Amino acid sequence: MFRRRTPQTCPGLEKFLRPTPSFIKCPFCGAEVEIWSDEDSAICDNCGRRVRRDQEEVSCLDYCPYAEKCREILASLKREEDQGE
Ligand SMILES: [Zn+2]
Repeated sequence: MFRRRTPQTCPGLEKFLRPTPSFIKCPFCGAEVEIWSDEDSAICDNCGRRVRRDQEEVSCLDYCPYAEKCREILASLKREEDQGE
């Protein structure tokens, strides 16, 4: 997998910079739904409904006083991706 330069961020951003999948149980049909660590919700493969991540799972962006800086970094990375390089 290709590695891009990693900006200086706090460790809490790791899950946004290097998303990892996890599985949650679909509340509608009980199937396992894959949800990525940088996403709040995913579509259940089994029933096609949108499943939201547990609200209890907060990221450091929700309480960190420096969250604005990190949001800027994430936003600029996203812009780079959108431009294809
Ligand atoms: Zn489902």
